[in-house]
This record gives sequence, C-alpha cells and structure tokens, in this order.
Amino acid sequence: MLIGVHPNDAGGIDMAVRRAAAAGATALQVFSAKPQFYNEKISVRPERAQRFRQAMAECGLSRDGCLVHAAYVLNTASPEPEKAERAALGLAKELERTEALGAFACCFHPGSAQDGDAASAIDRVGDAVARAAASVPGSARVLIENTAGAGRTMGRTPEEIAGMLRRVPAELRARAGYGLDTCHLFASGLDFTSSREAARALIDRFCDVIGEAPAFLHCNDSEGAFGSNRDRHALIGAGQVGTEPFAWLLQDARLRGVPCILETPHARETVADDDASPDPYDVDMVIRLRELAG
Ligand SMILES: [Zn+2]
Ligand SMILES: [Zn+2]
Repeated sequence: MLIGVHPNDAGGIDMAVRRAAAAGATALQVFSAKPQFYNEKISVRPERAQRFRQAMAECGLSRDGCLVHAAYVLNTASPEPEKAERAALGLAKELERTEALGAFACCFHPGSAQDGDAASAIDRVGDAVARAAASVPGSARVLIENTAGAGRTMGRTPEEIAGMLRRVPAELRARAGYGLDTCHLFASGLDFTSSREAARALIDRFCDVIGEAPAFLHCNDSEGAFGSNRDRHALIGAGQVGTEPFAWLLQDARLRGVPCILETPHARETVADDDASPDPYDVDMVIRLRELAG
C-alpha cells in the first residue's frame, strides 16, 4: 500500500523526502517549484534533482509513490488566450521537472472556464495535457485532478475529465490520466460516504466513463459540507466525511497499489531547514490510513 504525505519542503525537496519517510510514508508529493507562480521557464538544477533522487533511494521510496503537484495558478481552461498559453507552457515545464526528479507523474487542477463556454474550456485543458506529453520525452504522466466544483472550475465530473482526456492523441494517451481528491469529491456533491455500495458505485462511474481507474488518490477529509463546493481539507475523521468512507475507498480493488497521498493540515507551521523530523499530524494520519486500508 503506497501511503504518502505532502511534507514541508524547507531546506529543499530532498528534506521533504526525509520528512515523509520519517512519518512512516511509502509515498510522497512535492511541489517542483513555488506553487504560486507559473514557473514556465524554470528547470530543475541537476544537482537539486540529484539530491532528491539520492534522498528517495536512501529512504527506500520508489518512483511509483512519488507525485509532483503542479502550481495552483495554472489555468489551462482559461478563455483568455494569453493566460491559457502561459498555463500550457507552465504545465509542460511541470512535466519536464517531474521527469527530471524521477517522479511517476504530476497532477494539476484544470482551472476555470471563467465567462467562457465549458466545452471549449474542456478542449483547452485536454490540449494542454497533450502538448505537455508531446514536448517532454520520457514516461512521466500528466494527471488531471477532480475539483471541488467552485464557480466555473472544470473537472468536477467524470464526463468532464473524460472530455479532456479524449483530446490526447492515442500515441500519447498512456502519458495522461487522472486522480481523485476525496475532499473535492465530497465538496462537489459526489457521494462516496453514505455506504460502501455508494463508494463502489462512484468509482464504477469514474472507471466506466473515463475508461480507466484513477492513478492516484488524495485522501483528505472535508471541512465544508457535502455539495458545498468548498475546498478546505481536514484531518481524516475530523471533517464531515468521517472515517469509514476512507476504508471503503482504500479497500476497493481498483485503488490497490495506487498512491494515496494525504494533504491534511500540519501540526507545525514552520520547520527548520535541517530538521528532518516528521510532522506529528502526518505520523498519525499515515497510521490511521494504514489501519483503514486493512
Ligand atoms: Zn490538488
Ligand atoms: Zn483541495
């Protein structure tokens, strides 16, 4: 079972690897650059990539459990051509850094259609995924993350995600995919919490409509109510999802072997650069998810 965290990266992303391993995680998520910026011209310095890969090897973490989260500002769905173009370039650069770091994939939020129509926004997101895969040699994948559904954000339903992935040409299709964030599912009003059957039926729906299983899971409880469209993560069991629905998902055969990454609140706001000790909340959450996975 690949259970991961997204640690603080003070002191460098190699320190994030060490903090993840110290938390008992077998997977992790990192930002490949500062997530508030487009970073469309930023490459990973080779010595930084080397330090990261070295830390992964020393901590016994595998490529399969290593996910990069793209910058939040990339709005590939934007109807403003300049913004969409910059976001597409930013996404390609994310994939390049993902490949350089030796992670299996980067995930991203598709962004908002703003005042444009949904169908062309979906096309733009899919085209950005295809461009990224075409421009970066290697095997790292670009994964679309479902959204909490606020405003005109795209990628809330399996139909929208399937529409994006349909734009990716067949020869590049293996480099693209999607993943599910449990807080976003709940906030967007997709039910996996009422019963084990409901959880199974929801995964059925994603698998049927998109034609494949999710490639990662973000395991977050939700501070906001069901269908509230609020993207506020809570500790597992401390939000409105509760504990049991996580067991239903983690025990689903289609999610076995898929990295399950926690993006839950941390106990410590800041960490010293040379402090490789884990966040106490992350330690608890990893134990909790392992128990729930059975
Ligand atoms: Zn995300
Ligand atoms: Zn979120």
